[in-house]
Amino acid sequence: MNDCIFCKIIKQEIPSYKIYENEYVYAFLDINPVSDGHALVIPKVHAENLSTTPDLYLSEVSKAKKVVAQILQEKLKGVKGFNYVSNQEAIAKQVVFHYHEHILPKFKEDEGFL
Ligand code: ADP
Repeated sequence: MNDCIFCKIIKQEIPSYKIYENEYVYAFLDINPVSDGHALVIPKVHAENLSTTPDLYLSEVSKAKKVVAQILQEKLKGVKGFNYVSNQEAIAKQVVFHYHEHILPKFKEDEGFL
């Protein structure tokens, strides 16, 4: 989609800090991180949310979450767990309407939560 910020990131029309990509997905650091290493995984097809994302891309995003978490665990010191979060629709605080999964490394118990 022409005015979608995440489509522009995929096309490298706006910059991002890439963590991982393959034919189906792109993963990068969130510009406004809730914790160190806060990452986003997106499909390389425009779909507004999980419900409208084609199954192939959904499963690839899911697999990529596992890969990205492993990369973050290796690169960052002290990661003890993760929150995996996806907001769907404005009522659930979705702001960017290109399906994405947040990956939030957890370092201690009471740290920021989306
Ligand atoms: P929320 O802001 O409630 O988390 P979303 O679930 O829609 O809303 O998440 C959109 C995420 O995209 C936000 O965490 C935001 O910081 C991030 N974001 C927006 N623009 C960019 C960008 N250019 N590069 C990286 N992350 C971005």
